[in-house]
Amino acid sequence: MEKMQLMALPYAPEALEPVISRETIGFHHGKHLAGYVNNLNGLLQDSGFEVATLEEIVCKATGGILNNAGQILNHNLYFSQFSGKPKKTAPTGALALAIEREFGSFDAFKEEFQKKGATLFGSGWVWLSADKDGKLVITQEPNAANPVQRGLKPLLTFDVWEHAYYLDYQNRRPDHLAALWQIVDWDIIEQRYQP
Ligand code: MN
Repeated sequence: MEKMQLMALPYAPEALEPVISRETIGFHHGKHLAGYVNNLNGLLQDSGFEVATLEEIVCKATGGILNNAGQILNHNLYFSQFSGKPKKTAPTGALALAIEREFGSFDAFKEEFQKKGATLFGSGWVWLSADKDGKLVITQEPNAANPVQRGLKPLLTFDVWEHAYYLDYQNRRPDHLAALWQIVDWDIIEQRYQP
């Protein structure tokens, strides 16, 4: 069986400071995500999902396999969407137009996204996704859920599990969410939006 691998970070662990500290990245990627990868590798044996993709597992599995695979998929998309030096601070092209169409403006979109993240009760993720026609939607997903489970294409996510921000922001989840815009790499999000 091909073992699930812990994704390599596309930047140095201190690259996202001061928005996300090296210490938080160390625990979040090196302990939490690594733990989900180890758990899933233990659970996959003789599960029928040995050769499935993460997306397939997340759409079909239940219980511990679903939870650990969901967290791996979510974190892979999360960690790979950031840059310490993003080339632009807002999307351009088709994604920018879709955001204006759906939310009125980029600022209105950011406000709605942050609000959905701040008001998600307990652990989970706030997502921007696209449907099959390219129409955008913001959803709150509890625990390890991912919009791909409803046929949506996940584009951007903020992790609101406390482990994502507690070392740096303690209880100030809204401050953490507001700061994350500084490190979103919109080139990556635009690539994900492409049909
Ligand atoms: Mn997390």
